Amino acid sequence: MKLAILPGDGIGPEIVAQAVKVLKALDIKDLIMTEAPIGGAGYEAFGDPLPDSTLQLAKDSDAVLLGAVGDWKYDKLERHLRPERGLLRIRKELNLFANLRPALLYPELAGASTLKPEVVSGLDLMIIRELTGDIYFGQPRGISTLENGEREGINTMRYNESEIRRIGRVAFDIAMKRRKNGQKAKVCSVDKANVLETTELWRQVMIELSAEYPEVELSHMYVDNAAMQLIRAPKQFDVMVTGNIFGDILSDEASMLTGSIGMLPSASLDANNKGMYEPSHGSAPDIAGKDIANPLATILSVAMMLRHTFNDEANATRIEFACKKALSMGFRTADIYTEGCKKVKCSEMGDAVVAALN
Ligand code: NAD
Repeated sequence: MKLAILPGDGIGPEIVAQAVKVLKALDIKDLIMTEAPIGGAGYEAFGDPLPDSTLQLAKDSDAVLLGAVGDWKYDKLERHLRPERGLLRIRKELNLFANLRPALLYPELAGASTLKPEVVSGLDLMIIRELTGDIYFGQPRGISTLENGEREGINTMRYNESEIRRIGRVAFDIAMKRRKNGQKAKVCSVDKANVLETTELWRQVMIELSAEYPEVELSHMYVDNAAMQLIRAPKQFDVMVTGNIFGDILSDEASMLTGSIGMLPSASLDANNKGMYEPSHGSAPDIAGKDIANPLATILSVAMMLRHTFNDEANATRIEFACKKALSMGFRTADIYTEGCKKVKCSEMGDAVVAALN
């Protein structure tokens, strides 16, 4: 079991250190961790936001744990040297087509959401977004000038059957893994099939695929309705699967249901369940180096890694339970702090999770 550790920039090294602490406390046999720079750290070390040695390490590993990249001080660099380019390139090089973003609200944090506690408490939703196709990559694209001198912008929404089928499979498989207490597994496929032919095909392929998964209940929803339902009654959803652009928007919307960006893990997987795991937030340069960031999103990303890449459900659940226990004992970093709780630093939250593991 080889794991590449890429702390990155800003709060990246602080939060990744806590995740590594938790992993070491689990004492998993045969887990080899190797660290390498990416983003601004890669640029500082090798003049490249994705140094060759880092990419090679990631390719040779079974999974990648990433902190975050970026700092305002790199904003003036040429585009290809900027930290974010390193991130886009590594996703592409590793063929990570499936992005998994759970939105889970711990009852202890129900007051942190901007929605009413009764709407969000108990929320446990997984959004699965296709990450390498759709209008973000379709050709033709660009801005051209028409004969009358007016400019025109073009992007193209495209999906072929196999791209739809492989992300559909991820969604159906995950829905079956998440099935609880004899409940039927549920997948809601989000499209705009009434207007866009690309997503009409999306719906057809999802229906064809569902014949292979009789245990899973498949439903369909137009994206505009899905955006509304996520705010109105988010607990109606279990697994939601959608294309790149709809998923981009809906997953950010869903992340805010839980109140704090510091709580949200993510996974990006390839066809063999090799994955890159990272918190959903950025490098937070405004609080970097102060030991006050919330490490839970990164620690929960490790739980996702154990579940999806290493098939180690026992240790994944152990980490999730330990995070929940640290919260129920009242430990809070500044971003989720409320009156009456114990305000702790980033490293102290890491210690609290390690203590709760036992
Ligand atoms: P950000 O997510 O870094 O920060 C937004 C706000 O949330 C800030 O106030 C920050 O202090 C707070 N925050 C974020 N993570 C937190 C945590 N774990 N604990 C407590 N508070 C937290 O977004 P931004 O400010 O728009 O971007 C900062 C840099 O991060 C930019 O360079 C951007 O390009 C980069 N970025 C990287 C990624 C990534 O690596 N995946 C994602 C988004 C942004």
